[in-house]
Amino acid sequence: MSDRFTPVSQLGEFGLIDRMRDRLGENAPAGDLLCTIGDDAAVYRVSETTAHVVTADALIEGVHFERTFMPWGYLGRKAVAVNVSDVAAMNAQALYAVITMGLPRNVSVEMVDALYDGLRAGCEAYGIRLVGGDTTAAPQMTLSVTVVGEAPIDRITYRRGARPGDLLCVTGDVGAAYAGLQVLIEQQRAMRELGDAYEPDLSPYRRVIARQLTPAARTDVVADWARRAVRPRAVIDVSDGVASEVHHLCRASACGAVVHAAALPVDPETRAVADERMEDVDTFALFGGEDYELLFALDPADADRLAPRQFTVIGAFTGMDEGIVLQTPEGDALPLEAAGFSHFETDSD
Ligand code: ADP
Ligand code: MG
Repeated sequence: MSDRFTPVSQLGEFGLIDRMRDRLGENAPAGDLLCTIGDDAAVYRVSETTAHVVTADALIEGVHFERTFMPWGYLGRKAVAVNVSDVAAMNAQALYAVITMGLPRNVSVEMVDALYDGLRAGCEAYGIRLVGGDTTAAPQMTLSVTVVGEAPIDRITYRRGARPGDLLCVTGDVGAAYAGLQVLIEQQRAMRELGDAYEPDLSPYRRVIARQLTPAARTDVVADWARRAVRPRAVIDVSDGVASEVHHLCRASACGAVVHAAALPVDPETRAVADERMEDVDTFALFGGEDYELLFALDPADADRLAPRQFTVIGAFTGMDEGIVLQTPEGDALPLEAAGFSHFETDSD
């Protein structure tokens, strides 16, 4: 053992993952293994025409959620949804889940009941089954879910398929989950300060709070792509924020990109939350995490074949040497920072 101590924050989450990948040794896809570390899920062939995908995501108390504003049932639903979202990003269909649950002493049977009602509701919503797991004591409530999914090999979408000239697209709207988180954090603070005197009116924030607490995986979009026989060239789900995900697509595809700030789809409620705090809603849209929308590269020739209301073109892929650029409404072209909802690099999560 070396006596050096390099803080993990020095590498950041993604630098650390690169390092771990190198440490594991041979990791290139080979034989039946079609995709390893570095995409939304690993992919392996199970027959001539079919592959399975496998992905894991954890929700940790104090990091991903606070008990005070996350009802247990919602937590269960979210644990399923965030994993199904990674399967959706591979253009695949989720099948089975297993869960590891770390329980602190201050959790009751009734809380676990509520959690499992939520897990069940999440599984039913996406047509999957929870088929096993592991239970252990833990210092904080810890959930790690693994989901296996399936797709025809020729339908699978990787992060690596974008080409210069492709449209950069996103489903739904972005920044809402971050707006919801801001509202919840402020409510929590007000509740602490005012105690019983506090009478919250959360009705103007219903949508953004729901986006934070009960996000939905866009399996509806994946089904629609199949119906229309359209396969985007590259897909990632928006867990860490649009800016960070654009960087991942560009890096994997060896492309650059231009993002038009004015084109970012934002819900009016998200805009209201940003305005009330005198913050820039583009910052919410670009750097807020946990939207679980799909960000994808589309051959322009396919654009007319998709439902126009299901996605927004927010930019285009370019050559790698053109970099990753944010076009502001004022006409400036700025380098788009990769900053997002990355663990170990920020003190808020
Ligand atoms: P996502 O946001 O889609 O869940 P992550 O950013 O968590 O993806 O992970 C990126 C890639 O790194 C994925 O392919 C994931 O499987 C892999 N990965 C993440 N953490 C580890 C780890 N500790 N060891 C090995 N691979 C990891
Ligand atoms: Mg993902």
